[in-house]
Amino acid sequence: MRSCVQFKGKCSKWFNLKRGVRQGGVLSAVFYLVFINDLLRQLDESPYGSMLFNLRVSSTVQADDIALISTTSKGMKTLIDICQTYSENWGFRFSSAKSEVLKFCSSKCAIISQSLKLYGADIPVVTSTKHVGIILNAECKSMSRTLNACRILRATALSVMKSGIHPSFLNPLTCSKIVFQMCYPKAMFACELWYGLSNTELTMLERSHKYICKIIQGLPARTRSDKCTSLLGWLPVECYIDKCKLQFFGRLCRMDNNLLPKRILLLRLLEFRNKCVKKQDGFVPDLIRIAVKYDLINFVEDFVKSGSFPSKAVWNRYISTSIANSENNRWQQRISVDSDFEIFRKIHKHIVPHRAWVIAKTNPNFREGAKYIVDLCSVIRTEESPLLCDKCGQFFYNVIEHIMCMCDRLSDLRAKLWEDLISINPIVFSVYLDNLTSSTFTATLLSCYTEYDLDNDNSIYFSKTCITHVQRMCSVFYNS
Ligand SMILES: [Zn+2]
Repeated sequence: MRSCVQFKGKCSKWFNLKRGVRQGGVLSAVFYLVFINDLLRQLDESPYGSMLFNLRVSSTVQADDIALISTTSKGMKTLIDICQTYSENWGFRFSSAKSEVLKFCSSKCAIISQSLKLYGADIPVVTSTKHVGIILNAECKSMSRTLNACRILRATALSVMKSGIHPSFLNPLTCSKIVFQMCYPKAMFACELWYGLSNTELTMLERSHKYICKIIQGLPARTRSDKCTSLLGWLPVECYIDKCKLQFFGRLCRMDNNLLPKRILLLRLLEFRNKCVKKQDGFVPDLIRIAVKYDLINFVEDFVKSGSFPSKAVWNRYISTSIANSENNRWQQRISVDSDFEIFRKIHKHIVPHRAWVIAKTNPNFREGAKYIVDLCSVIRTEESPLLCDKCGQFFYNVIEHIMCMCDRLSDLRAKLWEDLISINPIVFSVYLDNLTSSTFTATLLSCYTEYDLDNDNSIYFSKTCITHVQRMCSVFYNS
């Protein structure tokens, strides 16, 4: 095979390639596996690799990223020698500059008695390194990984925003979809394997998550997070991690029985179930905790007993529903005891995208009005002492309620609002609206949604009416 380098339209001299596979070629992975397979077999057959009960787990490999695992220095030395001999026999070299040693143990035995060598040179001992894109820490500390995730999350979200995916051009629901597909998988890469996150780390992640939610909706940084995330229908970032873990568990369960990851999972599950060790770390204990939290533990128990597991689609549906339900309950409990949410909880009752955002998605000319309404929802509050209206001379406790229902200055605009409301079928609906208390009526207008059973067209018309009139009346009030 011959190759050359192309740069600015010009080609270098052709040179012969004696070894290697083509980058991105369809067959490259298969060719590489054929090339490396005997090495993996030799490592596996060596008695020096680590054991998990009766399973040999001596090396985890992803393409050319090889990790050797052994419980003794001598064992590790033998494994490295196997690799070195194999590479010498087949005429290639492992990069010793890229090789590193991690020693997982208590601090007492942190010194490695004998240095490990590859091609005669010492392999450096480090406390943390990357394997398959995942940061491993020999002291099992995850802080640097979490900091890294927060940094990537903020940086990628901001750069996506700067590239034109901005709330002033795009609906926040579209923005949030793009951010969830581009930024979260990158920042939270392999979060299904994170375990034992401390509260500090979770708070740091939540903070970045809420920060992004606020900039997507263009809300001020001091807006209460529970308002902000629920208006866009976002669950906490912890739910995102939990979901990844549950999906990962599903993938493992549906694997073929003789594959190593599934056998490891089964052993670890049984180990946990039968309390074989005092304190078990890793994926399984975390999974059990999450399954209990979302009431999915039956599936885990069924799997351990009978090996049966739902299909991918069914499992994903179960996960989404139970995570959403349990988080909704927690959120409702939180806001029901917080006086800051006194009016907000009447406007927004569930963690779903605000109705105005949904309407604006199919009707882009309502985006500005939707933004106006969502801003109002995030700031609306009852004053402690009454304020005097300089337009009509009445006292009020809640300025939006005053604008929508009382202020004499806006009676013409209010008449127009009612004209539109009365035109909604059935006519009884306007009677229903008229019977609401002024605070409930204001909350209904701000939510752009009614519990009254309207057909689809009328319900959309009602939402649009709310967006248009609330924006018009409030801006007239504030600018006159
Ligand atoms: Zn007034």
